[in-house]
Amino acid sequence: MDITTLSVFENRCLVNGQWLSADENLQVLNPLDNSVITTVPVLDESIIKQALVDAEIAQKQWKNVAVNERSRLLRNWFDLLMQHQDELATIMTVEQGKPFKEAKGEIAYAASYIEWFSEEAKRGYGDIIPSSASSEILVFKEAVGVCAAITPWNFPAAMITRKVAPALAAGCSILVKPASETPLTALAIAKLAEKAGFPAGIFNVITGSSAKIGKIFTESPIIKKLSFTGSTEIGAKLMAQSAPTVKKMSLELGGNAPVLVFKSADLDQAVQGVMDTKFRNAGQTCVCANRIYVQSEIYEAFVEKLKVKVEQLQMGNGLDASTDIGPLINRKAVLKVEEHIQDALSKGASLVTGKTTQNEDNWCVPTVVKDVTQEMLCAKEETFGPFAPIFKFSSEEQAISMSNDTEFGLASYVFTQDINQFIRVSRGLEYGMVGVNTGLISNAAAPFGGVKSSGIGREGSKYGMDEYLEMKYVCLGNVS
Ligand code: NAP
Repeated sequence: MDITTLSVFENRCLVNGQWLSADENLQVLNPLDNSVITTVPVLDESIIKQALVDAEIAQKQWKNVAVNERSRLLRNWFDLLMQHQDELATIMTVEQGKPFKEAKGEIAYAASYIEWFSEEAKRGYGDIIPSSASSEILVFKEAVGVCAAITPWNFPAAMITRKVAPALAAGCSILVKPASETPLTALAIAKLAEKAGFPAGIFNVITGSSAKIGKIFTESPIIKKLSFTGSTEIGAKLMAQSAPTVKKMSLELGGNAPVLVFKSADLDQAVQGVMDTKFRNAGQTCVCANRIYVQSEIYEAFVEKLKVKVEQLQMGNGLDASTDIGPLINRKAVLKVEEHIQDALSKGASLVTGKTTQNEDNWCVPTVVKDVTQEMLCAKEETFGPFAPIFKFSSEEQAISMSNDTEFGLASYVFTQDINQFIRVSRGLEYGMVGVNTGLISNAAAPFGGVKSSGIGREGSKYGMDEYLEMKYVCLGNVS
């Protein structure tokens, strides 16, 4: 599939309303066969620094644009994404590998954040607070200023719109550095943003060396807020780099999601929930089930049912309608999954279905292993691939304790038909999100985010706007 002929295809950077090329370029590969799709620019440091200055000038005007107008432009952008859903999804599948049906779903999900924040743009309410003194306490909500975003490859559209849409709604300007594996989806949605009518400099997409761009963003006093989605390791590094300029930060970092399946669960519902959360995007999601804890009474029955479903998954080219699992993003990702499987087997776990080693190129066969314990690597680290390790537990307390035994705290899942248990366990889990009797929790109307080493801040929902707004307290004195 030659995506370079699609109307939304773009391989130059959008900077202050101009589409820029560069002498030096980065190759973008198709993970299906590692063929080169195209190249994108490695922008010069001087161009990036000037982009920050231009974004600051643009933001000073943008924050004063009427909220109805900001809302209207966001709505235009939402409409354009949905009109070009198939083309955008094709680009995403070719550069990222996920099945086309999932890519289409991601475009709709990405667009839903733009729609949501086109509406929230009108609701940046301030406050008037009763005061005991002879004064009035007023709270204004004001745009933070120029923002920067750094995003990962696993959701090349949604991880961008859930930062850019609230930023623009709030009156901020923003510069986005997409992952080097998947810049084409970012550039295509930027092309549609330009068409939607946003003024120059408000939304910019910059490609190139991540370390250099990260350094410019974090060291610049112009950038007032950095929003990062990616690994905990890089998130912590960016936080440290940002300390001297004391930036506002949102960090959406790694996960290690537990799924707790209790004996009262509807077994078919639990198996389907695990399939949904474990194998979407070939297991390369931050909210993906990493550890599956099943109560001893139903353990073997659950394992058997899951095995049947996993063996039905079709691997292949994401552009084929029958494909459920595409290639992983690169060879390194495959080797990490194999390492986790090998480690589990060497420490006493047993293979239920799948392939334990020698997956070729970027392909990784969906694999299930049982009798897994907390000592194994997959209990401690994020696997980020189609590997489902199944642990056994006997009591609710034990399941909660094993689930919380991690530095991470993003998503967690519970399957139970016992209403009291659902409340107790949801309260007991040290996670930012809990899915109960479902493996699908993402929603633009919900606050997405983690605790512990999984990050700081929330994206989406009525709370998502606050990440791009500052409160200003105004004291009106001598009120009589
Ligand atoms: P990553 O290696 O941390 O990369 C993420 C982004 O950071 C990419 O754009 C990357 O650019 C950039 N980057 C890398 N090194 C940098 C540096 N020194 N300075 C500035 N930027 C730098 O993570 P990933 O492998 O792409 O994504 C997978 C991780 O993201 C997983 O841990 C997953 O759980 C997490 N994630 C979290 C959420 C959430 O909402 N919590 C959502 C999705 C993914 P290059 O591509 O150019 O290297």
